[in-house]
Amino acid sequence: MPTLGAPLRRRMLLTYSAVLLATYSLVLVDWDGPYDLRGEALAALLCVVALLVILPAQLRGPRYVLALACACAAPIAALLFHEFIVAQVWSLMPLIFIAMFVRSWHRPATARAVVLVVAAATVTGLLVAPADVPGLWLILFPGCIIGTAEVFGWLHGTLIAAALRDPLTAVWNRAGLEREADEILARAARRGAPVAVIALDIDEFKKINDHDGHQEGDRVLVRLAEFWTSQLPGQAVIGRIGGDEFVVVVPDCRQDQAQSLADELGAEGPTPVSTGVAVGWVHDSNTFPDLLADADRDLYRRKRAHREASAAAERD
Ligand code: GH3
Ligand code: MG
Repeated sequence: MPTLGAPLRRRMLLTYSAVLLATYSLVLVDWDGPYDLRGEALAALLCVVALLVILPAQLRGPRYVLALACACAAPIAALLFHEFIVAQVWSLMPLIFIAMFVRSWHRPATARAVVLVVAAATVTGLLVAPADVPGLWLILFPGCIIGTAEVFGWLHGTLIAAALRDPLTAVWNRAGLEREADEILARAARRGAPVAVIALDIDEFKKINDHDGHQEGDRVLVRLAEFWTSQLPGQAVIGRIGGDEFVVVVPDCRQDQAQSLADELGAEGPTPVSTGVAVGWVHDSNTFPDLLADADRDLYRRKRAHREASAAAERD
């Protein structure tokens, strides 16, 4: 099953561009009247560019922006030349799809800005095109594009929350953290910046459950997650990857900064917490699982040292 990440996004854009290219090609091949098909030809060309950009490799950065721009521009290019108003209705369908796509895959503010540009370009296209559309369509078209994008944005947000958030603490679950971490690592790779991974594990958490009950254990998890979330720098993310183990991923963070953040997170909560730190540069081909494994090793080394020190203190 495809995960909710860049590969699925690429596959959706690929399918959209291929279907659109096939549709415009059919119209061009089946041309049997005195219609102006320059719009369809331009739209097909934009789809070809999108496919050439999408097909070869992973779709990220400027190549993704170019593919998305072509995918948005193709239906608008087609409607620019239409003489018949029924053809304008057909152009609305891919525009609605691409607006839903954008709203589903991007942060709300970015997505809304892109959808607004698409809606404004559509209205401009309707005004410029030879087809004489009713004035109401200048409201209905952008209304459909923006409205559908918003509704599917809510749906997508709700599904993401159900699939990628931990229901108890509301931080990311393992799948959500991996998705967020991959984005952070991809950005860090482009900027040549280090990424820190901090592992956090509550000490003797089982005892809290055993002595004070499972509900109190739950409350401790929720309080700690809230506390850690409130302490994180702006771009950092936090997830719960196991019963009492949490992981923080911090972009642009050197070893000394990561260590002092880990010390802060581990020290201030309602119960003792062990921490482990790993910092890496992605150009050293570090991946999130590598950094997480290093941070985990560091955590268990410290936990062991702490346990041995406590046992020695009890003996003395
Ligand atoms: P250590 O000091 O080595 O970390 O020991 P620990 O007791 O913290 O860790 P251990 O892995 O032995 O136990 C973790 C416990 O967390 C076991 C499990 O019952 C409990 N747990 C897992 N998920 C939840 C949860 O959602 N709520 C509560 N209350 N407890 C949970
Ligand atoms: Mg523990």
